[in-house]
Amino acid sequence: MFQRLRSDFRLSIISLLGLCGFLGITPFAVLRFYQGNLTAGTLDVLILSGLCGSVAHAWWTGDTGRSGLVMAIIASFGAVLMAGLVGDPGLFWLYPCLVTSFFLTPPRVAIAINTTAVLLMVTQVSAFSGIEQMGSFVSTALVVSACAFIFANRNEDQRRRLEHLATLDPLTGVKNRRAMDEELEIAQAHATRTGISCALILLDIDHFKKINDEYGHGVGDAVLVDLVKVLRKNTRKSDQLFRYGGEEFVLLLPGVDGNGLKTVIGNLQHLLRKHVKHPGGAITASFGVAELDWGERIDSWLARADHALYQAKETGRDRAVFAEPRIRAVAQPA
Ligand code: GH3
Ligand code: MG
Ligand code: MG
Repeated sequence: MFQRLRSDFRLSIISLLGLCGFLGITPFAVLRFYQGNLTAGTLDVLILSGLCGSVAHAWWTGDTGRSGLVMAIIASFGAVLMAGLVGDPGLFWLYPCLVTSFFLTPPRVAIAINTTAVLLMVTQVSAFSGIEQMGSFVSTALVVSACAFIFANRNEDQRRRLEHLATLDPLTGVKNRRAMDEELEIAQAHATRTGISCALILLDIDHFKKINDEYGHGVGDAVLVDLVKVLRKNTRKSDQLFRYGGEEFVLLLPGVDGNGLKTVIGNLQHLLRKHVKHPGGAITASFGVAELDWGERIDSWLARADHALYQAKETGRDRAVFAEPRIRAVAQPA
């Protein structure tokens, strides 16, 4: 649960705002019923139910986009309706809604929700003591929205930059191992749900240390960059490439099995020889290949690919070894 909150910013915002809304509105709902104002009490209960429902939907489906939108709409228009029923309090409640809509929805949607809510609020004439108060409300609502917009935009920008730094390999620009762990989880869940096969290729450049030692680190770096260019250019959009470490890369290929994999690897071996070169000639690579077994865990899947790569190295390099399916591997004596 905490892992999900930490990795999904929108979900954490939805949960936090849901909790704040619950704690903030519940006493007023009780108060309205206590005062005998059944309509306002019922509206509070409906708003609370909407907020809780949005939080539950976000957790259940992972669809934080829709949940955030519903939450922003319920909160903002709930405040407008409340202003019509009880006056001033609805005005005050709209302010936090104007701010939070920028954290729950994309900027353009938040601007649309805020503008509509402020315009609707102005139609609730009874909520204002006079024209001067209405004018003050509109100006302050605009200032609050503008500040929230600037803050949310900057926050989103920085979050994106941090995410890039944390998940991309600076030399080659491909996703790093940390990002790979998440993507493998997603791929495994998808394969389990749909029954569509999914394979993993662990690729390791042969004798890479020698290239560094003989021609320098700069040449080694250039080889890594060229290798990534070739792999990216010659794999499908749905395939994903990760830098596993040093000169090792992982290719994740959904929807490919047996013969398809042999063709992919044959192609890659040919392309590496043709396009990835250093002053001493072309590079070769060894491949460990593992198809995901049904119900298999990520660490076991990776371990099988790693073991296959080890065998490819042991048996002479510049070749691919396919891992045994897990069931058979388990059945065989060690
Ligand atoms: P093998 O065929 O058994 O894979 O041998 P190898 O020499 O490729 O493998 P080894 O693991 O002995 O050496 C990998 C080298 O990769 C050692 C390390 O200095 C180098 N390396 C790791 N990251 C980088 C990098 O970002 N740039 C460069 N130029 N070299 C790197
Ligand atoms: Mg190597
Ligand atoms: Mg290596």
